[in-house]
Amino acid sequence: MSFEEYKAALGTSASRRALLFRDGRPFHVLLSQQFSRDDLIHLTDTATSIRRLDRHRDGRDFLRGLLRGIRVMNLFAQPSTRTAESFIAAADKLGATTRLVADIRTSSFSKGETVEDSVRTLSSFFDTIVTRHPEDDFAVRAAWGLQRSSRPIPVVSAGSGKSQHVTQSLLDIYTLRYSLEQRGGIDGRTVLLVGDILRNRAARSLAYLLTKFDVARVDFVSAKNYLPEGGLVQYIEKHGIKVGVDDNLESYLKRRGGEVDAIYMTRLQQEWDKGDGQPTAKGGELGTEDAFVLKSEFRSLIREDCVLMHPLPRVNELPESWEDHPGFVVWRQVRNGMWMRAALFAAIHGADQEIRARAVRLGLV
Ligand code: ASP
Repeated sequence: MSFEEYKAALGTSASRRALLFRDGRPFHVLLSQQFSRDDLIHLTDTATSIRRLDRHRDGRDFLRGLLRGIRVMNLFAQPSTRTAESFIAAADKLGATTRLVADIRTSSFSKGETVEDSVRTLSSFFDTIVTRHPEDDFAVRAAWGLQRSSRPIPVVSAGSGKSQHVTQSLLDIYTLRYSLEQRGGIDGRTVLLVGDILRNRAARSLAYLLTKFDVARVDFVSAKNYLPEGGLVQYIEKHGIKVGVDDNLESYLKRRGGEVDAIYMTRLQQEWDKGDGQPTAKGGELGTEDAFVLKSEFRSLIREDCVLMHPLPRVNELPESWEDHPGFVVWRQVRNGMWMRAALFAAIHGADQEIRARAVRLGLV
């Protein structure tokens, strides 16, 4: 199968499942669309099991024995401390060992080696590759290249250009499910995504995942230049979900604020202004314009039980004054990232059933 055929096959749900799952378990993790609602329920329940087992010494010892001998390569071609450390901590929890190549210039990519050859070489020493890259298709190309090798190992995207940030959206769904648990879960909810949707891969991946639930509405508030593209809006609508698009946060909240169950704030992705996704040192000019800042004075426009989220890093769009709002769960999102990534490693390497069974036996879930 050529790369173009592989990419096209990822566009339809049946062939996507055949390419990205093995024996009912995720193998490559490349697109939010690849997960079904059942997959998401299973992964989030596994994350909860891991989180609760980890509270006790016996549970921690048990977890640390599960992926012993598994080696994870984190190949990060874009700045990341938090996401890389989150993957490393997740692997640690299950006893896998990790390596991090954070500066791709030190690798043979700089000598002109193809993605396929590079990941094929790495697959000789590792059992999973986690990649972050400014090119949308890097992880897909890596998975395609490995598909044709005699030692295909899983590829997990940790951020693909401007297009997707699958594991961020998994932790976001986990956080939403957990935060809305007392109120009946994610179904029937209205979720508002604010900011640079066109270039914020975290928001885009979350929008795709929300379609796996029966949410009532997904609304976007975004500057005209950074609106979600037609394909994303159509994908959501195709799932019977109402989509709203607005370009002013204050007027949106005045009209609909009381109906919103969760707000996902994002920063302006200025690293793409020059087109390469590398940091811009524009000193003092970083940050979004006023119309996309969740100002303190909007507090009366939203409910006290509205969930407030942000993928971080934040600049000016979600001021610190919101931290005492009862729905502010941003720091919980960060911690959930570790549990959810551990759940993903467990599912990929077939340790998830054992984790769930142990947690059930101990009455933890
Ligand atoms: N940390 C997220 C990402 O890597 C969100 C952001 O950078 O704004 O895409």
